[in-house]
Amino acid sequence: KTDDMSSENNKPSVSFKDVAGLDEVKEELKEIIDFINNSEKYNKMGAKIPRGVLFYGPPGTGKTLLAKAVAGETNSTFLYASGSEFVEKYVGVGAKRVRTLFEKAKKDAPSIVFIDEIDAIGSKRNSDSNNEKDQTLNQLLVEMDGFYRSQTVIVIGATNRLDLLDEALLRPGRFDRHIYVGNPNVKARKEIFGVHTKDKPLDASIDIEDLARKTHGFSGAQLANIANEAAIIAVRNKKKVIDINDFNSAIERVVAGLEVKNPSVL
Ligand code: ATP
Repeated sequence: KTDDMSSENNKPSVSFKDVAGLDEVKEELKEIIDFINNSEKYNKMGAKIPRGVLFYGPPGTGKTLLAKAVAGETNSTFLYASGSEFVEKYVGVGAKRVRTLFEKAKKDAPSIVFIDEIDAIGSKRNSDSNNEKDQTLNQLLVEMDGFYRSQTVIVIGATNRLDLLDEALLRPGRFDRHIYVGNPNVKARKEIFGVHTKDKPLDASIDIEDLARKTHGFSGAQLANIANEAAIIAVRNKKKVIDINDFNSAIERVVAGLEVKNPSVL
């Protein structure tokens, strides 16, 4: 998930154009983009810029892609971390990693710190709590409370389970904006196919509208996967362009893959 970077250090070349559908989500994020691009104006007015945004929703719906696009639209540094990589056996290691991550974010500001699977460190604390995880979460809270005004660092967290998160993370000044990123409807599926076939030679037999109709319930990641599989199948069949049979085989293959992983989904 660290591809799509231009040669410039950690500056993604992804923009909102690369994110299909999700119009309302993009609309909400325009406000965040304005905060970053015009932080001076907000500072002068005495307004505090939000620090944390939480994306929640099913897997593969474009949360990482959106976070990269926010960085791309604001020419910010993009720093990716996965919640699970902070949780270690030895107490203090996760907290130290969080500190290092934020040091880098402040140094290279404006920055977007993206924390995928934030529930791995941010789930509700309870009595049989794990000390290492708590220290890691505490360090994240300290970092989020402590940004200076002159450094714009926005933390975007992603989770499939908003209900698991500790209240402390959701308080004002922390992750106080929650944005649902869901599976695409038929119009969005058509747009996602559009984005992922844009550089592929397609035969006239392909009707993207029809493909969008028959992929109800698929995530953006699965649609991207279908488009890629179709291209691979076309190559293997020594074709010059991708035709509808390649797409149908690709859909079958992706559906079969899902059935193996989770027989109840289809
Ligand atoms: P997870 O919750 O599993 O981490 P995610 O929500 O972060 O998933 P992404 O990693 O952003 O999902 O999506 C995976 C890939 O699927 C993207 O890199 C992109 O190729 C494709 N994709 C998903 N959603 C979209 C979309 N709305 N527009 C275009 N491509 C998309």
